[in-house]
Amino acid sequence: MKILVINSGSSSIKYQLFQMAEEKVIARGLLEKIGEETSFFNQKSIKADVELKEQISNHEEGINFILKMLTDAKQGVISSVNEIAGIGHRVVHGGEEFKAPVLITDTVIAKIEKYADLAPLHNPANLMGIMACKKYLSHAVQVACFDTAFHHTLTPQAYLYAIPYELYRKYKIRRYGFHGTSHLYVSRRLTGLLNRDKEDLNIITCHLGNGCSITAVEKGMSVDTSMGFTPLEGLVMGTRSGDIDPAIVFYLSQKGYSTEELNDLLNKKSGLLGISGISNDMRNLFEAKERGDEKAKIAIDIFCYRLRKYIGAYLAVLGKTDAVIFTGGIGENQAAIREESLKRLESLGIIINKERNEAAIKGQEMEISDDSSAVRVYVIPTNEEAQIAFDTFEIAQRYENQI
Ligand code: ADP
Repeated sequence: MKILVINSGSSSIKYQLFQMAEEKVIARGLLEKIGEETSFFNQKSIKADVELKEQISNHEEGINFILKMLTDAKQGVISSVNEIAGIGHRVVHGGEEFKAPVLITDTVIAKIEKYADLAPLHNPANLMGIMACKKYLSHAVQVACFDTAFHHTLTPQAYLYAIPYELYRKYKIRRYGFHGTSHLYVSRRLTGLLNRDKEDLNIITCHLGNGCSITAVEKGMSVDTSMGFTPLEGLVMGTRSGDIDPAIVFYLSQKGYSTEELNDLLNKKSGLLGISGISNDMRNLFEAKERGDEKAKIAIDIFCYRLRKYIGAYLAVLGKTDAVIFTGGIGENQAAIREESLKRLESLGIIINKERNEAAIKGQEMEISDDSSAVRVYVIPTNEEAQIAFDTFEIAQRYENQI
């Protein structure tokens, strides 16, 4: 069975075509700058690699173009779109309602639209991908996989903010958490790697990419996570501030900042970029630090310090912790960040092995803790697409068996 995984953003569509149940990627690609004068397309597959410039006006044209490339006589990997049995869509916000991946129906579409109120940048873009697939792949099962779903197991003590309860009732203001597919994927991988039941394991998962979040996973369930009502809360990120005193917002508002400017400031101009004034990319910051740039150094220090505080907090949340996992572009590739953020946690049972940490090979699942460490530490490359393909495959199979 072939499953197409779609991550539809406001001006881009990322996709991967999987052969299931083997979980083999037969093509992957990216269409960028949709709606601009020139859109960029690239596709890598078992058959050929293609790079093209095209003019793609909207998501419907975009999906149509991607399907053409997948079925192209020269570059394509399938002979007809009918070979695609299921499409798994990444959807950012599922509100309180969606606790697992679901078959997309008109009711589900209406709810994704409703939750656009909570994720105005993401849900409408995700929906554009869904609607376009509905048009061109009407034969296939469509599944929505929500970034928020894995965190539905948080209890009120973890998801409620200490603001008037009325605001939760009226506006559903609460912690939702994001990156759920990634936290779920890496925690499941580790459970498999250790050949243990998920009920036997408590894990802290650190997803460190451009966006960063950390989750406490108890017996396979998310019990706390650092992103909140929006992805702005928690760790220091590429351009997001993470936790700040909310009164800073009132203060800046009195100084004349508009709501829009504050939103832009905290989401796009803060974090590593805001502190360093150089870049949101950790690689550039390390280069700058090497050159003696003080601000790059302090940005890296703050990033690691905040991460260490959260790891400490989640050790307390979980009580007994079996493992810490690092994933995402930074978590998988930056040994220095892993080492720095685990410093001073030795007395709490986490001892990193310097050599193993530095020898971790890109793209591989590796243990980096010392044999003497009570808590095991791993680097596990994330693969949200594989998780979405797996979930979509399961639903598509169930659906096929029903009809
Ligand atoms: P996104 O969250 O957008 O998917 P990534 O997971 O790729 O992004 O994370 C981006 C961050 O990861 C950047 O700060 C970048 O410096 C870092 N990163 C990505 N790849 C590497 C690499 N090969 N070596 C070092 N750092 C990397």
